[in-house]
Amino acid sequence: MDGEAALTMRYPWEDAPAHGEAIEIAEGVLWLRFPLPMKLDHVNVYALDDGDGWTVIDTGFNSEKMRDLWRTVMDGPLKGKPVKRVVVTHHHPDHVGLAGWLQSEFGAQLITTRTSWLFARMLTLDVQTEMTQENIAFYRSAGMDPDILAERIAERPFNFADIVYPMPSGYTRIKQGDVFRMGGRDWDVHIGNGHAPEQATFWSRDDNLVLSGDQILSSISPNIGVYPTEPEADPLADWLESCERLATLARSDHLALGGHKLPFVGLPLRMRQLADNHHSALDRMLDHLKTPGTAADCFLAVFKRQIGKSEYGMALVEAVAHVNHLYLTGAVTRTRREDGAWLYQSKA
Ligand SMILES: [Zn+2]
Ligand SMILES: [Zn+2]
Repeated sequence: MDGEAALTMRYPWEDAPAHGEAIEIAEGVLWLRFPLPMKLDHVNVYALDDGDGWTVIDTGFNSEKMRDLWRTVMDGPLKGKPVKRVVVTHHHPDHVGLAGWLQSEFGAQLITTRTSWLFARMLTLDVQTEMTQENIAFYRSAGMDPDILAERIAERPFNFADIVYPMPSGYTRIKQGDVFRMGGRDWDVHIGNGHAPEQATFWSRDDNLVLSGDQILSSISPNIGVYPTEPEADPLADWLESCERLATLARSDHLALGGHKLPFVGLPLRMRQLADNHHSALDRMLDHLKTPGTAADCFLAVFKRQIGKSEYGMALVEAVAHVNHLYLTGAVTRTRREDGAWLYQSKA
């Protein structure tokens, strides 16, 4: 294969479908969009025609407006045929938000990985009215700006249940190596990690389609974050391992259908970029941390730009992912500052 030609990306559709409408990506595969009330303002949903019903991939957030939009979609592009199965790629609220509703209102079967299901259900049940001590300690360790921390402590914390419909007990597990049939195709299940633990991706055996969830996105780099549930985690190591493993499956004719942004052709190049972005961020941080600093001090080194208030939370968990990786691979040391923040310093 011509190496240069293989390493390009193109977007067969310039525009996404309007809300409530669908674009037919391939026979029996519909692409839909649901709005999100944040900077990343949409999530992609796919509907696969199983003949007597639909399998849908991911769901959007839970709100009355989104449930209304689903009803519009069911009567419109889904032609009144039932949603029999809902496949959730990973546990994040923009993907799992209405899975429980599709189960309890429409009798759909929920199919996802065990970790996705356990995380989604655990977090939905774990409603907190005040920020927990563990959360406060986590943000202090990360060197969160004291004003932002004080503001957050004063507010009711974000709860998963705010935007995720209650999840009934019971789901069907998929795992690495499974072959799953939907939309008239057989799909190999490959698990990715790093953005979310045990995220499912689906690789068609019968044509060139890949349902990549948020593991592989076209024009934004998936967030790699550390959270108070596992403060010493190294999701970046998991991410880099997944990139290497999934890159061996990538073909230049694959059409990747991700959870956000536009479908694209050019997986071999994208897999390389998704790993390289982080390797260069780690290099910049090692340089930056010749002078001791906290995770929050590393924003410019990680992102190469200033971080606004609306992105602060996502940026902080990603900065922690990078310092944790450097610390756990022995590239930096860390000491506690008086205010509880970890101060990292490059060894070299
Ligand atoms: Zn996600
Ligand atoms: Zn997402």
